[in-house]
Amino acid sequence: MALAFDEYGRPFIIIKEQEQKSRLRGLDAQKANISAGRAVARILRTSLGPKGMDKMLQSPDGDVTITNDGATILEQMDVDNQIAKLMVELSRSQDYEIGDGTTGVVVMAGALLEQAEKLLERGIHPIRIAEGYETASRIAVEHLEKIAQKFEYGVSNFEPLVQTCMTTLSSKIVNRCKRSLAEIAVKAVLAVADLERKDVNLDLIKVEGKVGGKLEDTELVYGIVVDKDMSHPQMPKKIEDAKIAILTCPFEPPKPKTKHKVDIDTVEKFQTLRKQEQQYFDDMVQKCKDAGATLVICQWGFDDEANHLLLHRNLPAVRWVGGVELELIAIATGGRIVPRFQELTPEKLGKAGLVREKSFGTTKDRMLYIEHCANSRAVTIFIRGGTLFNFVMSGICMLKETLHFFSEMFTDTEEPLLAIINSFLPGVGMIATASISIGNKMMIEETKRSIHDALCVARNLIRNNSIVYGGGSAEISCSISVEAAADRYPGVEQYAIRAFADALDAIPMALAENSGLQPIETLSAVKSQQVKENNPYCGIDCNDVGTNDMREQNVFETLIGKQQQILLATQVVKMILKIDDVISPSEY
Ligand code: ADP
Repeated sequence: MALAFDEYGRPFIIIKEQEQKSRLRGLDAQKANISAGRAVARILRTSLGPKGMDKMLQSPDGDVTITNDGATILEQMDVDNQIAKLMVELSRSQDYEIGDGTTGVVVMAGALLEQAEKLLERGIHPIRIAEGYETASRIAVEHLEKIAQKFEYGVSNFEPLVQTCMTTLSSKIVNRCKRSLAEIAVKAVLAVADLERKDVNLDLIKVEGKVGGKLEDTELVYGIVVDKDMSHPQMPKKIEDAKIAILTCPFEPPKPKTKHKVDIDTVEKFQTLRKQEQQYFDDMVQKCKDAGATLVICQWGFDDEANHLLLHRNLPAVRWVGGVELELIAIATGGRIVPRFQELTPEKLGKAGLVREKSFGTTKDRMLYIEHCANSRAVTIFIRGGTLFNFVMSGICMLKETLHFFSEMFTDTEEPLLAIINSFLPGVGMIATASISIGNKMMIEETKRSIHDALCVARNLIRNNSIVYGGGSAEISCSISVEAAADRYPGVEQYAIRAFADALDAIPMALAENSGLQPIETLSAVKSQQVKENNPYCGIDCNDVGTNDMREQNVFETLIGKQQQILLATQVVKMILKIDDVISPSEY
């Protein structure tokens, strides 16, 4: 602190802000940043591959997520360190651009940082390392093009697309049903794809989930599924050739904009008011009828009286439909969203071949299926799930019942057991109910995330139908080619290029380690096999199939996904290496 005076002689105090900040410079800054980045990568390393572990994350308000998806793990981790946040961003950008490979990209960046640390210790300047990495990444990306393969697909021949989506799903919790889920994802993407322009608008695919049933019951609906039911139980459950009025205006009398007061002091006045109100409803229903609507889908609710009138006038209705769903319904049925009853015209109505309400088993849950729409290019993947949890839960419930039975038996004795059981019961009950709802919901959420990955993979393949083989084979092949290229560079970059080749080995090593294999031995065996047989498709046999040729195992990944992983990881590591001064507020 220092005391100074302004031009009028008034004193003021200068506080040196820098003194209140902690500062790391030069090598210390780089090392601190590298260790933060590596710490994040270490967390994800064990999740990589088909035998990767899942992570359980609890949010501050108690919500539990179990997932294997790199982007989701990092998103929910709530990291504080700025460099760690960069790694989170890295995974997010991979998710945004490609949709898959979110764990791999962070593991790759972690390995590059580890190698960079060794080079820094040997006295190589960070800029040299960054340049070397850049060169090496270019070599690797070009090499990927060389080993990539193109495959042909068509609307009827989509097996290769399914196989690639299966590779993505094989490392997820839902891998039990990977074949059927992959088929669903591919069919959904093909239904909305514009094959001529090679483009897919994923917004047209709605992923809806409902707790209950089995994962195997997950289905693809060529239309829209809305988690709503008819506003009155006596309305028809099935409407064929529906003409749908899609409304954002409420079924209620208009509200005056200014304040007003109505004195109702006689029965007549009350009845006039009531009649007036009924007249409003009647008019609204009439306007829908005049336009030719046979179903009304409304963004807002309406009271019992309006509901009754709709039933009476034979106009089925659905209320409280969300804005996003309303938009999708409008796109699918080729209708227009109408904000005022006066604007309803026959050509603004949406058209669907079949609208039906479906109920599920013994539960009261009902969903609305809007199918055979005018614009068939909108589909819904409807996920069911939770049997595993139901199974566990029925076990817990049985335990609870048994305990209850014992407690009844001992009611008239002074058994201390009774006290124990009684204190135990509410706990068991709580766990049972909590787990049923959390467990099933978690399963659905994880399935949604996995389906998202599979959809992205199918979309990427339609954009660019080149694939590389997975199981670490592409990385090993790139590593060999980068290593060989290093000798051509006379400068110190050579070391960085070699380090890059070593970092590429981290992916197959992690895959081997996570599958319970000896990482170094497995890697060296596969690498020498690749060189000896000149076969870039040898990878890690994670599932112990008996062959490590990934062509035979049908383990594919998209070329653009793999290239993006390498490029993004290199960019982030370069950015981290270039930071040589970290100024942060010191902690008190
Ligand atoms: P990411 O989030 O990066 O996609 P995953 O946990 O899905 O991470 O793991 C993907 C890695 O697992 C890829 O390198 C892929 O090649 C590999 N992989 C997937 N299935 C198999 C398999 N059956 N055998 C060997 N490797 C596999």
